[in-house]
Amino acid sequence: MPSNLVIVYHRQPYEEVEVDGKIEFRENKSPNGIVPTLKSFFGRFESGSWVAWKQAEDPSNPDFDRVVEIDDQYGKYTVSRLPLTAEQVKSFYHVTSKEAFWPILHSFKERYNYDPVDWPTFREVNWAFAEAAAAEAAQGAVVWVHDYNLWLVPGYLRTLRPDVKISFFHHTPFPAADTFNVLPWRKEILESLLACDVVGFHIPRYVSNFVSAARSLLDVDVAARQKVDPEFAAEVTALSERSVPTLLNYDGRQIAVQASPVGVDADYIDSIARREETATRAAEIRADLGEAQLILSVGRTDYTKGGIEQLSSYERLLESRPDLRGKVRLMHVSVPANRNMTVYENIQTEIEQMAGRINGRFGTLDWQPIALISRAIPFEDLVAYYRAADVAWITPLADGMNLVCKEFAAARVDGDGVLVLSEFAGAAVEMGSALLTNPFSHRSMDSAISQALEMPKEERRDRMAALRDGVHRYDIRFWAEHQMQALAGPSGTGQTRPAA
Ligand code: UDP
Repeated sequence: MPSNLVIVYHRQPYEEVEVDGKIEFRENKSPNGIVPTLKSFFGRFESGSWVAWKQAEDPSNPDFDRVVEIDDQYGKYTVSRLPLTAEQVKSFYHVTSKEAFWPILHSFKERYNYDPVDWPTFREVNWAFAEAAAAEAAQGAVVWVHDYNLWLVPGYLRTLRPDVKISFFHHTPFPAADTFNVLPWRKEILESLLACDVVGFHIPRYVSNFVSAARSLLDVDVAARQKVDPEFAAEVTALSERSVPTLLNYDGRQIAVQASPVGVDADYIDSIARREETATRAAEIRADLGEAQLILSVGRTDYTKGGIEQLSSYERLLESRPDLRGKVRLMHVSVPANRNMTVYENIQTEIEQMAGRINGRFGTLDWQPIALISRAIPFEDLVAYYRAADVAWITPLADGMNLVCKEFAAARVDGDGVLVLSEFAGAAVEMGSALLTNPFSHRSMDSAISQALEMPKEERRDRMAALRDGVHRYDIRFWAEHQMQALAGPSGTGQTRPAA
């Protein structure tokens, strides 16, 4: 049956498990995250589909059903699995997206690697996604495409199906024009995005950057702008904007551009944090620490996450403050990506060497300043660490949003704890009550962590109350609703409001 809502997301919306030779589709282990929220929209449309890829040896004759019908707690929906070879996946995802696009999106021009890119394969895979979406969509359906590895899908889909409504959401930053234009395929990408009805981003800065990149190459006019809600620009931080374009005219069409911050499932995190076993685990963690304060740092092993810069700051802290030795511990969780890429391996090695050096310089038999964890911690355990920590130290050099900082606030049901957050995380524009820091400045990094460790209780509680209020209001459901509303016309809520 043709679908009224088609979600195009590179990952399948469940885990495929083989039980006694039979394939079972199970809910993703953690209900936290974006996939369940997207699936929850299926209940509102007459019929829904999800388009994702699945590896096949021979895509013309895959050893699995291309289309499967799922019936789960979200209702009935179709999953269309696009068969791709291992080489196609490597090329479009691990090479073009991660080696060429990722550094540019995060403004690391010097890490951009053009040489291995196979552009015809990127086009071919995106075309295949567009064809699969076109095959699923009913007349006038809404097609919601996710993330930069599918940048060319909207343009192809518009050619195949002029009748559908296309929305595209970027889960990363969008860089300034002079960085974006490093990509030789810049015009093709922008033209594809301008074939959408709605282009969505986390924060107004990324909208502005997109519009200026589009205007640098194409005759795009800004038809409407709005003032940014002060709640999203209260503190003037590195990523703040005062006003933002909301509507563009291009090639005889109107395109809405909208910022909606991805949030967390604050109610779900709250419920885990309040479980008795979480409280017990958090109490055990605290008991093991003795008198020491716990600083918690959690992120993927990626040059964008600023792990090295953070460890350097910690080393300077222990050097300049002998009184803190034995009184503080840093738990640095750096989860390696599940792929063999030299660039990530190098960062991992650097982090391990640095943590080893700091432990060697300052550690004793009973006190190690850093606990380096190089594997993923299950979410329930992570919530116990969030609850036990004195400080969450989240200092990426660039980050589209950053959910760890929001999870930390959502987990602090006790109303305590200090969040030190980089100004260059998208989340900073809505989390002005955190201690904001500039990870490119030693002075700013060092003073923020010192201040966090010494913050009086009343200030901690005031700041945390404001943070918790925000993560509950602007949660994952708010994000999805806000993006969906954009398809129906300017909503005037949330990040932007009508110009005064
Ligand atoms: N995460 C986890 N276990 C870990 C480390 C991270 O479950 O050991 C989760 C974390 O809870 C968060 C996600 O991984 O939901 C990371 O999201 P974020 O937006 O902060 O960073 P990204 O990796 O998407 O850049």
